Amino acid sequence: MQLKLKSLLCSLGLATTALLASHHVQAEGRLTIYCTVQNALCEDVAKRFSEKYDVQTSFTQMSTGTILGKLKAEKSNPQADVWYGGTIEPHFQAAELGLLEAYRPKNQASILPQFQKLMASDKGNYTSATYMLVLGLGINTEKLKALGLEMPKKWEDLLNPKLAGEVQIPDPRSSGTTYTIMATLISLWGEEKTFDYLKKLDANISQYPKSNLVTSNLVRGEVAESIGFTHAYITEKEKGNPIEYVIPEGKVGYALGGTSIVKNARNLDNAKLFADFVLTKEIQELPWREHHLYQLPSVVGAEVSPLMPNAEKLDFVEYDFDKFGSSEEGKYLINKWVEDVKLGDKLAK
Ligand code: PLP
Repeated sequence: MQLKLKSLLCSLGLATTALLASHHVQAEGRLTIYCTVQNALCEDVAKRFSEKYDVQTSFTQMSTGTILGKLKAEKSNPQADVWYGGTIEPHFQAAELGLLEAYRPKNQASILPQFQKLMASDKGNYTSATYMLVLGLGINTEKLKALGLEMPKKWEDLLNPKLAGEVQIPDPRSSGTTYTIMATLISLWGEEKTFDYLKKLDANISQYPKSNLVTSNLVRGEVAESIGFTHAYITEKEKGNPIEYVIPEGKVGYALGGTSIVKNARNLDNAKLFADFVLTKEIQELPWREHHLYQLPSVVGAEVSPLMPNAEKLDFVEYDFDKFGSSEEGKYLINKWVEDVKLGDKLAK
């Protein structure tokens, strides 16, 4: 009898907690997400969160650099609660600028061991590694064949004069991808050689569009090659497009995707729930299970697709996250790219 009463009280207790929690969530039942994963995934994750927690959820999909700019502009009047996805360095820069709210998600300790040191640092107070992307070259094999060229093997192969007007990379003012390209090459070669390379590459670049347009232009055969994250090329190949990817010789570049909560978020409790949610096994596996999207999960125990590159076999670059995650360095490198690469020759002419 006593036992029965105890278990009844216990379940009543639990029910009260659950009710309070749901009452609390419903009291502020909204969540606004700035989202830098693919649009279909933003939509599905927002919908699943909304259904699970009874929260009215909305999202806006934008590139990493664009969101960093928006967070800066909205500092005194934040419009979003949480930032889901996008390369992690601009998240670190946002934290340094006081634009993020400290929160360590429940499952943060399950993030892959190789990123635990980073997560244990101050950076992990604000941002959690939510997925991983491998950097590579995207090739339109039909276009390459028509140009009579072989598959590239190394970064320097993109400088072949026969590729004049046949290469695109995204504009780093909006795109985190190109910031990763710069951070990778600087880590491999140093700053001087990297900018020398990017200036030479400029001779082969037809334009620097937004990151999603670079991939669609490659697929349409507007150009033969691009630099980007390999998961996007896998998706295009799977659709039957003549697209392959190459991981250039030497150490391999990569990006972590981040998730952070916006400082003074209006819906802070929901933002915390969301930061927990994106590290669950369900959401970690959702991209490849439901959407043919191949970012690598960041959490131990989340299964991978056989179509993804095998991260265990790759020899990754070691980034100095303090350097590339500093807002000073971010501004410096992007300004340098604009002045030396984008405008450089044109100003001199
Ligand atoms: N995260 C994911 C899942 C992506 O697919 C991409 C781009 O391909 C990025 C982040 C980086 O996007 P952006 O270069 O537009 O900032």
